[in-house]
Amino acid sequence: MGKYNVQKKQVLDCIMALVEQGFVQGTGGNVSLLLQGGSAVAVTPSQREYATMTPDDICVVDLDLRPLEEAGAAPSMETAMHLAIYRSRPDAGAIVHTHQIFASVFSLINEPIPALFDEVAGAIGPKVEIVPYALSGSKELVDNVVSKLGNRANCYILQNHGALSLGRDLDHARRNAELLEKAAQVYYYALTTGRAVSVLPQEVQDLMSLIMADRQDEEIKRRR
Ligand SMILES: [Zn+2]
Repeated sequence: MGKYNVQKKQVLDCIMALVEQGFVQGTGGNVSLLLQGGSAVAVTPSQREYATMTPDDICVVDLDLRPLEEAGAAPSMETAMHLAIYRSRPDAGAIVHTHQIFASVFSLINEPIPALFDEVAGAIGPKVEIVPYALSGSKELVDNVVSKLGNRANCYILQNHGALSLGRDLDHARRNAELLEKAAQVYYYALTTGRAVSVLPQEVQDLMSLIMADRQDEEIKRRR
């Protein structure tokens, strides 16, 4: 048994669940989990078919992207983006990057998703912002993502690309991706009616932001 086999299996299970949900396709998307007091991550490999992926294919790298284990594959080309998010958001313990369909619709029309439902806004943030487009794997994309993280939301939409969901662990990150997809789907259908879409009152949005920030601060404290 390798030192991180349990965590590598958790990362594999998470990406396989996302495949099953149709949130990632082909070799697209990636998942990472922060390890050992925040000095390393387990991350899905680059360009590997999910159907034949095993825990041994999950890569372990330090925060400077140096491999900590002999792995059969290179880490995902988006690993630098994951690492930059962990540096900027000490409340995040796991990140899932997906190409989920309804969130992707909003990545094309370049339209943020407003606060529509309490249970969604309280988990992913009152507004899902659009991160401006840059090539996958580029330093520019990393910078664009980092520039948006200050709102402490747990979901972001990558313009002409897909979505990013953060969580304190893999279950929360994946659940946030599901909540984002629900909001995106319902918002899409609401917009197609041509009627005005009602959003949550500002004071409720502010309350949701406060609740989220408190929860994140507690998570940060817990890790110290
Ligand atoms: Zn992608």
